[in-house]
Amino acid sequence: MDHKLMALGLALTYPDQAFDEAEPDAHDLTRTVVAAAAVGQDTSEPVGRLLTTHPYLNEWVHLVLEDVDMRPPHLRNAVTRGHEPLLGDADPIAERYVCPVDGFSWYRPSAARPVPSCPFGGHALQKA
Ligand SMILES: [Zn+2]
Repeated sequence: MDHKLMALGLALTYPDQAFDEAEPDAHDLTRTVVAAAAVGQDTSEPVGRLLTTHPYLNEWVHLVLEDVDMRPPHLRNAVTRGHEPLLGDADPIAERYVCPVDGFSWYRPSAARPVPSCPFGGHALQKA
């Protein structure tokens, strides 16, 4: 799957971080694009249009794509801010979940956060 599309699916699972009130239609448009991709439609044109017209979302997607693991920027900050990682300690946000159908990856911010279903068709995510 296209990485931009993956990042948009990820945006739906972190709406507080990925969307800004200055772009009130971005959430709905993203949901529409992701739903279209989930049923196999070619979404390259609408994805491009969505990102071109929504700079806040575009920047968030850009930050996700910058990371080799496609982690959301707010969770990467949590990892690198402040404390030195303990030697041999696992990445504190490393609870990674993957969709067995399409490879969508999701990172669980804390044990209190329920694991969502895959935005690309509602598949159950599995702990990686
Ligand atoms: Zn999936």
